Amino acid sequence: MSTRVGPLVYSLTLCGPTTACGTTTPLTPGLRADLLAGALYVEVVTPSYFGGEIRGQIRPPVWSDLRGASTCHPSAPAGTGSFGARIGSDGSITYACMVVGIVGIPVALDIHANPGACLDGEVALPLEPLVGPAGGPFTTGIRSAGPDADPSLAGLYAGGFYCDLHTTAFPGGALRGEVRGGTLPMSQPGGCAGAGGLSPRLEWMGGPSRLTLPGLYTVLLSDALPGAPFLLLVGLTNSAPYPIDLQPSLGGSGACLLLNDSPLLIPGATAASGFCAGKGHHLFPTLSGASIGGTVYLQAVVMDPGGPLDMPLVLSNGLTVTIQT
Ligand SMILES: [Zn+2]
Repeated sequence: MSTRVGPLVYSLTLCGPTTACGTTTPLTPGLRADLLAGALYVEVVTPSYFGGEIRGQIRPPVWSDLRGASTCHPSAPAGTGSFGARIGSDGSITYACMVVGIVGIPVALDIHANPGACLDGEVALPLEPLVGPAGGPFTTGIRSAGPDADPSLAGLYAGGFYCDLHTTAFPGGALRGEVRGGTLPMSQPGGCAGAGGLSPRLEWMGGPSRLTLPGLYTVLLSDALPGAPFLLLVGLTNSAPYPIDLQPSLGGSGACLLLNDSPLLIPGATAASGFCAGKGHHLFPTLSGASIGGTVYLQAVVMDPGGPLDMPLVLSNGLTVTIQT
């Protein structure tokens, strides 16, 4: 991890003794590029450590829309796919990919160096295979690469790579999409710890929210009780400025605050063992009724008898995602 000191870009506004919140002035194009390239960090300065007490790199998710036309070869005309990933502080990559509508069977999914549109580059990182029933959908599930993944993959943020799918019908490439840095959704409070102090964490795995079909969204739940069932609650608003008519329930105040109203409920379960123990994910399609400028609010409710509520439930943080073009 770098410990070099960079110039101050923004002073963030404190809105409580331990909370900063607010909206900055619009980022310059250069700063926006730096943000999406993972080149900015946040630092907390205290009276005891005027040079900065703690700091952390801002790591936006990366994503790719996979399309047949992007291969510039004969390719799957009706196929589409979504790849989303997060890059850990140790350089590891946690990712998920799902494709629908393809002809044939998936053979390989990779990340390639991107020499330019319609040009083929070397494979930089082979990904785990997509599996699914005949006709699809096909998905990798949650997978991890690294931390010994090619260090140049830090450039995933910068558009220097593409993701592609090879199938039995189109071995040269059925679907392809440029990998890009996404906009980080806002994390909202409300989570609480359950058994063993595990506090479920909900993260967006990439891709600006889209309205065009099939418009897959990907979220990752981690640090939850291994093997526990959970519900992903999805709320939706199109009203400005702040979201949904949020109704606190369950805990009512402080930790364990459920902020969701008339949501869509998507059931899931966390893995019981292995690398993905305590993790679960959802790939879900476009939300009907949403419009550009609206907000999606997501929060997970995990079955866990060790939480502070009267019910055997604990909650993740919430995520607000602005719907973009
Ligand atoms: Zn490939």
